[in-house]
Amino acid sequence: MNCETARDILQKNGFKCTPGRIALIELLLKTKQPLSQQEISNQLSDIDFNFVSVYRSLHAFLEAGIVHRVETGDRIWRFALTDAKDGEEHHPHFVCNSCGKVECIKEMKIPQLSEIRPGYTVEEQEVFIRGLCDKCSR
Ligand SMILES: [Zn+2]
Ligand SMILES: [Zn+2]
Repeated sequence: MNCETARDILQKNGFKCTPGRIALIELLLKTKQPLSQQEISNQLSDIDFNFVSVYRSLHAFLEAGIVHRVETGDRIWRFALTDAKDGEEHHPHFVCNSCGKVECIKEMKIPQLSEIRPGYTVEEQEVFIRGLCDKCSR
């Protein structure tokens, strides 16, 4: 992970550094694993940054490529920071079958699949690895 600060990330992408946005990015920098809107909202409850603001910011960050999102089959989108140096990066996500933890497996890269078959358009690509995390497999 690089040592970019939340302010750097926001300013570089043309966002104003509001306390809520800084707290959101700092949370994602710190956790390093995908978090749901609810989890983020719970962790930011002590500052004045409500559920709707979290939603709006996450979707603006998504469009700017600051974050990516993953849905593991439970219909809950989870958001994680995207390494700026990789641009739109593609990596598998690990899902623990026991505790439900979701992690970015950034050490494995998946090539951007653009042409799978003539006439087919790829809109989203997602690779999951399911199993037990280090805590659950003990
Ligand atoms: Zn687990
Ligand atoms: Zn990820």
